[in-house]
Amino acid sequence: MNGPLGIADKDAPKALLGLVLHRHLTGDAEPVRVQVSSPWDVWWACYRAGLPFSGLGVEPVMPYGACRGCIADALECASAVPPRHPDELGERPCGCLRLWAVRMRSGPETTGWPRFALTVALIKPDAPAELITDRLSAGHEVLGAWARTLTAADTRRMYPEAYGEDYIAAVDAYLTSGPSRVMLLRSHDPGTTADIKTRIRDEIGNDRLRNHLHMPDNPGEALADLAHLVGWGLLQEFHEGADDAANACLAFYRAALGVRDTDADGVAASR
Ligand SMILES: [Zn+2]
Repeated sequence: MNGPLGIADKDAPKALLGLVLHRHLTGDAEPVRVQVSSPWDVWWACYRAGLPFSGLGVEPVMPYGACRGCIADALECASAVPPRHPDELGERPCGCLRLWAVRMRSGPETTGWPRFALTVALIKPDAPAELITDRLSAGHEVLGAWARTLTAADTRRMYPEAYGEDYIAAVDAYLTSGPSRVMLLRSHDPGTTADIKTRIRDEIGNDRLRNHLHMPDNPGEALADLAHLVGWGLLQEFHEGADDAANACLAFYRAALGVRDTDADGVAASR
C-alpha cells in the first residue's frame, strides 16, 4: 500500500480503468473525485479504454507535488479524440513518465482483484491455435471467435505503458506478423483464468517475447480488451453491469481510489 491509495501505486491505473469503463458501460456520468498515483494514470486509463478524458465524469486528485508539466501533458494527451500517445510529444523535459512506466511494469501482480467472468483471449500469430482453443474451452464458455491481424496501433493500445522500450519494435513485429485469433470467453470458474493461461504457456513452451497467448489479469483490462478486440456492441450485450460480480468490482475500484459518496449536488465530498 502506498500513500492515500488503497492499492499499490502501480495498479492504481488499472483500478481507474475499471472504474471508468464500468461507469461508461452503465451510463453513469455523475462526477466523482478519484485519487491517482500520477497524472499518467489518467492518460493511461483513457488511452487503454480508447475514450477521451472529457465525458468520463472523473475529477482526478493529483498526488502532492505532482510535476506541473506532466499534469498538463498527460491531460492534453488524455483529452484528445481519440487519446494521443506521449511518444508523439517527443523528448520529455523530465523523467516522470519513464519512471512511471518502469514502475507499472515492475514485479509480479500483488493486488487481489475481484473475480471477473467475462474476458477475452488473443491467440498470437504462429501459436498452436487449435491446442490453445481446446485448453481454453475446458475452463470457459466460448461466446465468439474471430481472426484478426493486429496493427502497430492495436499493440500500442494493448501495452501503452511500453514507453521508451527498445523492446517495442520486436513486440510489434511479432504481434503484427500474421493473423491472431480473438476469443470472447466467459469463465466457468472466475479466478482460475490466470492459472489456465500459465498452464497453457508452460505446456507449449515460451520466452519473454513469444508467449502465444494474451489474456488480461485484472477486470479493468478485461473490459478494455473486450471493447478493443471484440467491440463495444458485444461488450454491452454480455456485460451485466448490475450483477454481483460487477458490483463487487465497482466497490473495489471505489475503495482503491478513495471515491466518496456524493452529496445532494452530485459533487464528491472533498477530504
Ligand atoms: Zn514530469
